[in-house]
Amino acid sequence: AQHIDELAKYLDPSRDLLLTYNGVRTLMSRYLLKRLDGTFFETPQYLWMRTAMGVAYAELKYGGDPITWSRRFYDLMSQLKLMPNSPTLYNAMTRLGQLSACFVVPIDDCLSRESDTNREDPECNFGIMDALRLAALIFQSGGGVGYNFGKLRPEGDIVRSTTGIASGPLSFMKLFDTLVDTIKQGGKRRGAQMGMLFWWHPDIERFITSKSGELKDVQLQNFNISVAIDDYFMQKALKGEDVYLVNPRECPCLYKTWGEEFVKCYEGCVEAIKAGKIRIWRRINAKELWDKIVKSAWDSGDPGLWNRDLANYINNEKLPGEVINATNPCSEESLYDFESCNLGSINLVKYVYDGRIDWDSLARDVQLAVRFLDDVIDVNKLPHDRLRKRVLETRRIGLGTNGLADTLIALGLRYDSPQALAVSNELASFIARMAVRASIELAREKGAYPAYKHGDWAEGVLPWTKHRERLEKFSSTVDKNSVEEYLKVLDAGYNDPRVRSVIDGATAVLRGYRALDGELSIDVSTIGIRNGSIMSIAPEGSRSLIAGVNSSIEPLFAIAYIRNLSIGKLIEYNYTALRLLMVTKTLDGVTRRFVEEYGILPRDHPLANLLRTAHEIHWKWHVYMQVTWAKWNDSGVSKTINMPSDTPIEDVEQAYRLAWLLNAFGITVYRDKSKSVQVIYTGVKS
Ligand code: UDP
Repeated sequence: AQHIDELAKYLDPSRDLLLTYNGVRTLMSRYLLKRLDGTFFETPQYLWMRTAMGVAYAELKYGGDPITWSRRFYDLMSQLKLMPNSPTLYNAMTRLGQLSACFVVPIDDCLSRESDTNREDPECNFGIMDALRLAALIFQSGGGVGYNFGKLRPEGDIVRSTTGIASGPLSFMKLFDTLVDTIKQGGKRRGAQMGMLFWWHPDIERFITSKSGELKDVQLQNFNISVAIDDYFMQKALKGEDVYLVNPRECPCLYKTWGEEFVKCYEGCVEAIKAGKIRIWRRINAKELWDKIVKSAWDSGDPGLWNRDLANYINNEKLPGEVINATNPCSEESLYDFESCNLGSINLVKYVYDGRIDWDSLARDVQLAVRFLDDVIDVNKLPHDRLRKRVLETRRIGLGTNGLADTLIALGLRYDSPQALAVSNELASFIARMAVRASIELAREKGAYPAYKHGDWAEGVLPWTKHRERLEKFSSTVDKNSVEEYLKVLDAGYNDPRVRSVIDGATAVLRGYRALDGELSIDVSTIGIRNGSIMSIAPEGSRSLIAGVNSSIEPLFAIAYIRNLSIGKLIEYNYTALRLLMVTKTLDGVTRRFVEEYGILPRDHPLANLLRTAHEIHWKWHVYMQVTWAKWNDSGVSKTINMPSDTPIEDVEQAYRLAWLLNAFGITVYRDKSKSVQVIYTGVKS
């Protein structure tokens, strides 16, 4: 009780003033705890402290002082510098206690293993109904779920136990879709889901078009869908060669391997098909399949792509005998079965002063954020043994960023410029290196994650050196020009004196913390590391509203826009842009009316370049920005490549190809107004 008093005195109500109106509205609608009669139990400062205390409790286990850590975590959150993912804020110190934003749940090709213990099928460890049940529990606690439906036998295949006919992955996806309609997440938000399918699955064509054309706005509305591609498929597609679709039931090695081993397995399966040992489902030109993907994505935004080879290669955890087969709902985390995302984001705006970045404070806060996320793992209450076991085995965290667009504006750099790319590259590399340093120090203090000895970390390998190697050794041989063009743009940014003054001091800070590559590599192989994976760029949907900044690494969506959320219709202005317009006295009546109508500035406005918005920015810059952050990431980057509604289909094709080539973990495009209902609309008059 004495400690609680002490912490209560530490609360600083004046920090409530840091919140914007929409920030307060968001907190009140879902985050602040309420009594049964609906009255509020806490204020924003209580929320930050409750979360801080709930998480810092983990320190007790290691003989640490939870009070000191509570204060430090509180300071970080209450100043809006660190935002943990929503379930951490919802559930810290509550009975539910589930703090992760998302999971990947496997689906084996059987109905149930957990309820059918007589079953002795080695391929059946977690059946469809087991996954459905677990997904329900996860939604209840506010988490989202990603699945790969590709282990399920195709529609029309045999079912031996009943001598019936299999209904295929899509029919089961509908079951999960209905589940989400029924169970709202913890009564707070609707469950987000990712449904994936391998490119080689016999039902892939139906999957690709399952949310487009006539089915748009109708089917699988509670799913994002993505095709799991790999380098083998992409090369076949570029060359326009034929591929065979294969039944996973007859070739299970396909989902148990990646990279060269996968190619060996796949070619073995094709031999078996040609020899008539297994059934031919379909032979198809890979380019036709690729065009189908692109056409659907142009039409409706779905499917996205996820590069399974890249995700498995960059991932440093490397669990023996296991392959990463899916991501969470918004693709920021490529996860092993039963792993979870424990996300937190650093609000970059808070580290800009007078056109410079305060690298010292950023370094300190990144370390604290890593400790916070690592503590989350120890206090998290997960709804299944399999989740608990896996999460403690890899101790994966996902540190990301928020407010990049505001930061670039504050530095006077337009988003679609070499300078903005260079500064982003510097920010991303700095945060990644400091985060790895922090996790090494935690390993020294609390021990490495249990599966450490199997991973690439133990060999002193850093994820970003793998990104570089792949770009130089693989992508350059496929399309040298595109790779060189991107690297040239980045170089041009670094050569600008303005950029050099912004990044001045960053290397010295890293050196001070022994966080340059050579030192990190030695220390990670000798001391160990606390967390199997560390970085992740999430969409920051709600958290950006709370922090009052533009979300994640996205450009301004618009200067004025309407957001339709379950909590109501929010009319929003980007504060950084608005402030700048006021300070520069360039918001006259005509400009204001233009902004309200179209959401953007008139072309001839003096700030029109600096305040460019998502649809004014060419897709290539969107992709460049995404891959710049991906380079320093070991799990995934969630970003939407927003395109104007009149974008031709060829642009989507090029964007998808470029993303694969430049090492994006995945890609999602969205053409304005391509669906009948979208969350955000430009302008505030509609
Ligand atoms: N998520 C979810 N339901 C939602 C929004 C998000 O399950 O309504 C999950 C989803 O897996 C997503 C992750 O939370 O990938 C992180 O999303 P975001 O960064 O937008 O979360 P927030 O800002 O709410 O913490």
